[in-house]
Amino acid sequence: MRSKIVAGNWKMNKNLTETEALLVQLSAKLPDTDAEVMVAPTFVNLAAAVRTLDSSRIEVIAQNMHFAPNGAYTGEISADMLLNIGVDTVIIGHSERRAYFGETDEILVKKVVAALENNMRVMFCFGEELEDRKSGNHFNIVESQLKNALFSLDVSHWNKIILAYEPVWAIGTGETASPEQAQEMHAFIRKTITEAYNSGVANKVSILYGGSVKPANAKEIFSKPDVDGGLIGGASLVADDFAAIIKAI
Ligand code: PEP
Repeated sequence: MRSKIVAGNWKMNKNLTETEALLVQLSAKLPDTDAEVMVAPTFVNLAAAVRTLDSSRIEVIAQNMHFAPNGAYTGEISADMLLNIGVDTVIIGHSERRAYFGETDEILVKKVVAALENNMRVMFCFGEELEDRKSGNHFNIVESQLKNALFSLDVSHWNKIILAYEPVWAIGTGETASPEQAQEMHAFIRKTITEAYNSGVANKVSILYGGSVKPANAKEIFSKPDVDGGLIGGASLVADDFAAIIKAI
C-alpha cells in the first residue's frame, strides 16, 4: 500500500509568531485520517515548529537543502543541520528553486544524493511549463526531469522517495490540472518508473499532485487512482483550508 500524503509548502510566508499560531490551529483542526500530514515552514522556524508539534502526528519538513555536508556556502543549510533539529524529509526541485535560484538537474541530483546518503526522505518536485503542455511536449519534459535527477539512484533508495508532480502553469495561478490531466500524467510517471526500474518500485512510490489544490477541488483530484495526495502551497497557509484538503484525502 502506498502512503497517502498531504504536505503544505509555506514558502517564504509566516514569521515565528504566525508559524506557531498556524500550527496550533492546524493541530486543533486536524482531521482523523491515515494520511501522512507534513508542513514545510521557512528554515528559521523549523526548530520552533518541531518543538510546537512535539506530540503531534504532523511532520515538519524542509523546503530545500544544500548538497555539501558543510563549509563555505553562505546562507545555505546542510542535511546534518536539518537532522539535528529533527527534520528528516526535504523538498528538492521545487519549480521556484529551479526558476528563481538556477537549480538545474545537475544540482538537483547532487541534493537528492546528499539527502539519501543522510538517510533522509526526499520529496522530489518536477513538472512542465505551460509552453511544454501547449506544444504537447509535457511527457518528454517530465520523463527527462525524472531521468536526470532520479534514475541513476540505486533501487534500494526508492523507499525514501516521494514524488510531487507540479505543472508549473498550475502553481499559484488558480489554474489546476483537471483530475484527468493529473491522472494521465501520474499514470505516465508510474509507467516511466516501471521501465527504468520495475513495477514494484513504480507501484510503491507515492506521487502527489501540486498546483492550486483547494478545498473545492481536492476530493476530485485525490479520487484518481494514481494520485496519492497533494503538495499544497497557498491553501496550506489557512488552517481551515488545509484541514479541509487533508479531510478530502
Ligand atoms: C506549490 O508551490 O508547491 C504549490 C502547489 O502552490 P499552490 O498550491 O499555491 O499552487
